[in-house]
Amino acid sequence: KAAVPVVGGKKTDDIIGITVPKNEDFSAWYQEVVLKSEMVEYYNEIAGFFVLRPASMYIWGVIRTWFSARIEAMGVEETSFPLFLSSKSLEKEKDHVDGFAPELAWVTKAGDKDLEVPVAIRPTSEAVMYPYYAKWIRSHRDLPLRLNQWNSVVRWEAKQTTPFLRTREFLWQEGHTAHLTEELAGKEVLEILDLYAGVYEQLLAVPVVKGRKTENEKFAGGYYTTTVEGYIPSNGRGIQGATSHCLGQNFSKMFDITVEDPNKRGEHIHVWQNSWGLSTRVIGVMVMIHGDDKGLVLPPRVARIQSIVVPVGITAKMSPEDRKNLEAKADDIAQTLKTAGIRADVDHRDGYTPAWKFNDWELRGVPLRLEFGPKDAAKEVVSFARRDTGEKGAIPLAEVTTKVPELLETIQQDMYNKAEKSFREHRIQLTDWDKVVPALDAKNVVIIPFCLEPKCEERIKELTVSTSPENELLPEGKRAPSMGMKSLCIPFEQPEGLVEGQTKCLNPECSALAKNWVMFGRSY
Ligand code: AMP
Repeated sequence: KAAVPVVGGKKTDDIIGITVPKNEDFSAWYQEVVLKSEMVEYYNEIAGFFVLRPASMYIWGVIRTWFSARIEAMGVEETSFPLFLSSKSLEKEKDHVDGFAPELAWVTKAGDKDLEVPVAIRPTSEAVMYPYYAKWIRSHRDLPLRLNQWNSVVRWEAKQTTPFLRTREFLWQEGHTAHLTEELAGKEVLEILDLYAGVYEQLLAVPVVKGRKTENEKFAGGYYTTTVEGYIPSNGRGIQGATSHCLGQNFSKMFDITVEDPNKRGEHIHVWQNSWGLSTRVIGVMVMIHGDDKGLVLPPRVARIQSIVVPVGITAKMSPEDRKNLEAKADDIAQTLKTAGIRADVDHRDGYTPAWKFNDWELRGVPLRLEFGPKDAAKEVVSFARRDTGEKGAIPLAEVTTKVPELLETIQQDMYNKAEKSFREHRIQLTDWDKVVPALDAKNVVIIPFCLEPKCEERIKELTVSTSPENELLPEGKRAPSMGMKSLCIPFEQPEGLVEGQTKCLNPECSALAKNWVMFGRSY
């Protein structure tokens, strides 16, 4: 479809807009939304890479500012390490290298000469940074060492790539810290996890469930992984939101990072390490949850334009002076809002009808539209339309500086509440195995009693592959099988009802006792 058909020099109303309904073809809808709202561009040269345009980088900037202020207050400092990784340091931690080797991108040449030793692009920076932690940490007084970097990493993902959610290069922050004791490291792991939950819930209006990963799903080479897990209602899939890992002493043993024991002279302790990362994936999760058939719906706290003023009711019959007055008043409204700290703007674009402008700002997700025309001027009000609900109303001009921020805050809260309700209603606690696959097919994630055994988890994945009549129809006339479920997390908030030594693992083939309620789902 042409972007903006031009008719006789004027742009018509039936332009832009999303052509695929969200509930009809979710992945096509998503692609259309992120492209047409100018968040991303596909990097056609190399598959799996994307250009992040100002509309998405603004949101990343808000997240970065919010998160940076909080980790700085915790004592984390910024750093920048090289992009490349030698295979020698990568191989030091066996599980780590096994986990990341399949996704490594290698540089093998400089100009036309083969490199003596090829170098890999960092998929994450443990192996880049920790030789220097060994050098810098000389005494327990050097602890805690807490460094963070905002950068991009490369993982040559074999799975289907999706803008923001899974890309072969992605922006993130990676924090790497070292502590004297397990307890101190563990405390920080949870503090960071709370900040990750804050990014989702407070900024992006996206609810998450906090928990621990099972052995199968934990970070390669780590001791344990904590996670915030999200949920995409449109397809019922879970998605790992961000992860805060305790690496234990695994890396400090391999990289020889030790301090003298402050309590026992002459004895050395391997430090306790953490690493934690949050990527641009968060933006994709936000788009998927809040977007609708008109396009993006942005939570006010991350919207570059929170409120757009559109002059309306300008007709050919109007005198030039009346028109000028109306436009000046619209400017005043936007300026008043800006002075009050609201990110407002006014749309004076010539040659576009108000209806075209409405569509355009809706597509871009602007949370609050303010319309101002002769009728509003006569009543000394400005009319508003909420992006999230479509609700309309009027605000007295004298009250815009209080009412608009209130309304934006209401929108933020309502968006969160709506998403929270949907996640809560689709997180189903089950004690009957036969209900598991139907629950997945009905776009739920499930919470079940589970033994925590890696082999059992793999078997559960196989047992829950299903061929629902709603699955994608393959060319040969059969339905594509839906993927099996995997464990999303062991929620910190455990429901009641699991009796230790009595409740069995829900897998009918498993005879072990359940250790925890575990959230499983089809997932990204
Ligand atoms: P990890 O270092 O594997 O724990 O990854 C940290 C976080 O980055 C994960 O929790 C994901 O949310 C995110 N992430 C991992 N792989 C990708 C990817 N290919 N594209 C975007 N985000 C990713």
